Order: sequence, then C-alpha cells, then structure tokens
Amino acid sequence: MACKAENGTPPGVFWTRVVEKEEGRYPFAYTVFMPLRCNHCSDAPCIPVCPTGATYVREQDNIVLVDQEKCVGCHACVVACPYESRSLPDSGRGYYGQHKTPYEEVAFKKWQPGTAQKCTLCVHRLDRGLKPACVETCPTQALMIGDRNDPDSAISKAIAKRPNFQPHADLGTDPNVFYLT
Ligand code: SF4
Repeated sequence: MACKAENGTPPGVFWTRVVEKEEGRYPFAYTVFMPLRCNHCSDAPCIPVCPTGATYVREQDNIVLVDQEKCVGCHACVVACPYESRSLPDSGRGYYGQHKTPYEEVAFKKWQPGTAQKCTLCVHRLDRGLKPACVETCPTQALMIGDRNDPDSAISKAIAKRPNFQPHADLGTDPNVFYLT
C-alpha cells in the first residue's frame, strides 16, 4: 500500500505484491509472506529486448529504470521479464471510473498510459537521501536496501551472515533482491 500511495499506480497495477504461503503442519503451521517486485537484475532480460533503449541501467547505482519518453508500449519487456514485474496500463482510468479523484489527478502524472512501468526502488526518494516507501513503512524492518558492492554495508553483512536466496537464480538473471531465510 505504501508503494501504491507513493507512486500512484493505477487500478490492477502493483509494483510490489506480497504473496502468502502456508508452511508446516498443525500445530506447527505458519504463514510465510514474500514481497515480490522488480529484482533490478544484473543480467536483465527486459533490457536487450527493448527496441528503443527505453529500459536502461542507471549508472551510479545499477537500478533498472524505464524512460517513459522513449517507451513505445510494445510490451516486449513485459513478456521478457520472467518475474512478471512489469505492467503496461493502457489508460489513465482511476479507481472510481474515468473521473479521477484529486489525489489521482496528481499521482497519475508520475507515469504515462501506454508505457511500461515497474518498481523504481523509489529513485526520486533515494536521490533525496530517503529510503524507498516500502522500506520506510515496513513496521518490522523486514526490508533493507543498500550497496552490495560495499562489504561494510549493513546489507552486505546481512547477506554474508544469513542464509539467503535470489528469486529463480536458475534463470541466470542475477537478481539484486535477496531473501534472507
Ligand atoms: Fe527486468 Fe524483470 Fe529483472 Fe526487473 S525483474 S530487471 S523487470 S527482468
């Protein structure tokens, strides 16, 4: 919900989704929650398929972004992403029909109908020294963001210390999202 509020995503579009899975057996049953989003892959299949170079890697931090001015809405990246992390809403329809609420009038200006969109890791917040909205909002601090190339960063230490996995590492995309187990 923090992502939706921050980024003004339209109905049916989630840059972050949380899946739930029941594990174990009664009386030792428990629920696992797993947030899914763009993994900002180091070998991202969404990039080479883009015919206009709209999908690119930001040089200073390797975040995968979409240049909405260059995107022609061909859907190639939506199909290429094996994580179903991309959406391409074709209209600016609001939650209550064609008539947008005052909030939607402002928030929907952050993206253009007919262009690809996905998690940006809240670069607009990172550039102001803030954490992504999901990280900031998480009440249990289950989400972290940091520089994996810095061995002294908290995130590097957590990955080194705790068992972890990358989502579908077998696909060879080298995701930059790690799940600590
Ligand atoms: Fe591209 Fe999908 Fe990887 Fe994100 S998760 S970088 S959209 S391939």
